[in-house]
Amino acid sequence: MPSIHDEIRFMKGVGQARAKKRAALGIHSIFDLLRHFPRQYEDRTRLVPIAQLPEKTPVCFRAMVTAVPRASYGKGYQSITRVQVSDSHDRISLTFFHRKNVAEELKPGRVYIFYGALSENDGFRSVVNPLFEPEDGPQQVTRRIVPVYPLTAGISNAMLSRLIGQALELYAPQLEETIPDAIREKYGLCGVREAYLAVHQPPDFEALERARRRLCFEEFFVFSVGLSLLKSRRREQTAPAFSDQDLGDFFRALPFALTGAQQRAVDDVLQDLGRTEPMNRLVQGDVGSGKTMVAAAAAYCAAKNGWQTAFMVPTEILAEQHAQSLTKLLEPLGVRIALLTGGMKAAEARQVRELIAQGMADLVIGTHALFSAGTAFARLGLVIADEQHRFGLGQRAALAEKGQTPPVLVMSATPIPRTLALIIYGDLDVSVIDELPPGRQKVDTFLVSERLRQRVNGFIRQQVREGHQVYIVCPAVEQSQTEDLKAAEVWAQTLQKAVFPDLRVALLHGKMKPADKDAVMRSFAAHEVDILVATTVIEVGVDVPNATLMVIENAERFGLSQLHQLRGRVGRGEAKSHCVLFAGGGNAQTIARLKAFCSTNDGFRIAEEDLRLRGPGDFFGSRQSGLPLFRAAKPEGSLEIMELARQAADGYVSDPAGPEMEPLHARVRALFETGGATMN
Ligand code: ADP
Ligand code: MG
Repeated sequence: MPSIHDEIRFMKGVGQARAKKRAALGIHSIFDLLRHFPRQYEDRTRLVPIAQLPEKTPVCFRAMVTAVPRASYGKGYQSITRVQVSDSHDRISLTFFHRKNVAEELKPGRVYIFYGALSENDGFRSVVNPLFEPEDGPQQVTRRIVPVYPLTAGISNAMLSRLIGQALELYAPQLEETIPDAIREKYGLCGVREAYLAVHQPPDFEALERARRRLCFEEFFVFSVGLSLLKSRRREQTAPAFSDQDLGDFFRALPFALTGAQQRAVDDVLQDLGRTEPMNRLVQGDVGSGKTMVAAAAAYCAAKNGWQTAFMVPTEILAEQHAQSLTKLLEPLGVRIALLTGGMKAAEARQVRELIAQGMADLVIGTHALFSAGTAFARLGLVIADEQHRFGLGQRAALAEKGQTPPVLVMSATPIPRTLALIIYGDLDVSVIDELPPGRQKVDTFLVSERLRQRVNGFIRQQVREGHQVYIVCPAVEQSQTEDLKAAEVWAQTLQKAVFPDLRVALLHGKMKPADKDAVMRSFAAHEVDILVATTVIEVGVDVPNATLMVIENAERFGLSQLHQLRGRVGRGEAKSHCVLFAGGGNAQTIARLKAFCSTNDGFRIAEEDLRLRGPGDFFGSRQSGLPLFRAAKPEGSLEIMELARQAADGYVSDPAGPEMEPLHARVRALFETGGATMN
């Protein structure tokens, strides 16, 4: 029998065929399969009397078939079977499309449990295509809590449930405990096997909640142990202290005075750089708060002390933009600047590497090509990473592994509430820039419905006529059959053909090749495109000051912090900028949330609100933390669980257990590895 860590194809009865699709879900090993947690649950435990069946919400009900089912043919030879059922008080019709055999399965006089939603068609009320099983038969699709898994095309929920059920039966005994007994007792957490069983096949809600609590705790515990270890490992290392801290020339060269918050961040950084303990600092500040100047000050200080700085950014365009503006500022002060990107010609890149190796470049700006093999710095004294969420735990760990780690300064434009920052960035010190440079314009934001589509189109046209550019963001790339969301591909086509045939519309989404993405972004920056239809890939910092309008489709689908990031793409130039949110669906709470968003431009307030309303899940999306986990449905109070797990981890790291906790350490190592792999 294979081990739980073997590839899933070694499991009995698992074919090769769907390997790719499972891989798309991140399922490679049997263990991955068991860790593919449901994202939500359907409550089919309650039986509702027929008289109380809600509209359009599937529920279970118990009823007897009262007449022989009758099949007929509708338009296009579609078979329609109608079945009359009743409970002791009321009756209701069931309608089955394309299910001729139900006439044989449903026997008059017998009692069944049905699961389906009541709806009304042409004034006729019935439950359409319900699932059912005899009351006296096994409870497979009714009277149960049914997990709903994250899926991909070609893999159904039922298939996954079955596969996971098999895996549980065979491999649950191999699951190893990752939380020390003492900690489990202290926090009242159930054991690992019990948790995996109950989260996939909950016998009742109480057991499910216990399982989710334990798994949630475990996630944060493993994560926090990892960060604590990282931090203590760094403490043992030393860096050169930059003793020359006179930045007078730099401040005089700036075309503006730093804001108070910028100044505080610079002071924090200089203080770190003056010590032999390597700096490990995160600067958090809203879009446009002027983080680049903090980076520039740090790089200038390094250069003044004779050390090189590597400045890493997520895209080539951003690298070029930074190189341009920093050259203007720092070259007159004697700082030699070089640009190194993956897209450069080989000969050119070789030349730049040569300069770096000889110490002839003080500040090197580039994409992660900067750290590819073949780049050797003569005297690397400082690493700066822009846009933290592209600089995940894996990168942080990789740098720490390299032994003599240089000081690291990470900059993030994703405001995160303090409670969370302590956990997500447990290995970093944090400076917050909570103030914008004076005179910044507010981006006026409007929440609209489909009724105003024409007017918004007119507004788009007007912006373009005035020489400006427009972003339109869609929640999906391709049209899905099950969800009515605007898909970027189709929408870009529709707009180009039917709405703005005379304007230049381009498409940008995450499934494109990096080089193609880059090309599109470049032509937008060069104003060769008027309207850019995109998915959230544009979230990450590209500066096109001429863009003045951001339209977001299905805004109800985005977290507020994400909306805020998107909105930050406009309002970067002189001209007045706007953001328009289309909200297709969404309940009253969602609408209230979006309205609150319209009324503030403060990223930290928005993040707090997001945390309060949606819990911490969003902040742990694999994009932001560089982590693939944290995607399971979270139990109530996950924020508190998180805090407890962090405390427990701190205690554990200062007094670690013996070899029996190897499974925990294996999980921590895996976390660092996968954290690196998700850099997107
Ligand atoms: P971000 O924090 O989003 O990286 P940037 O560093 O790109 O922000 O700064 C945004 C803009 O604000 C830049 O054009 C920059 O020159 C300008 N800026 C930065 N600091 C100040 C300041 N203290 N006063 C006025 N303008 C500033
Ligand atoms: Mg920036």
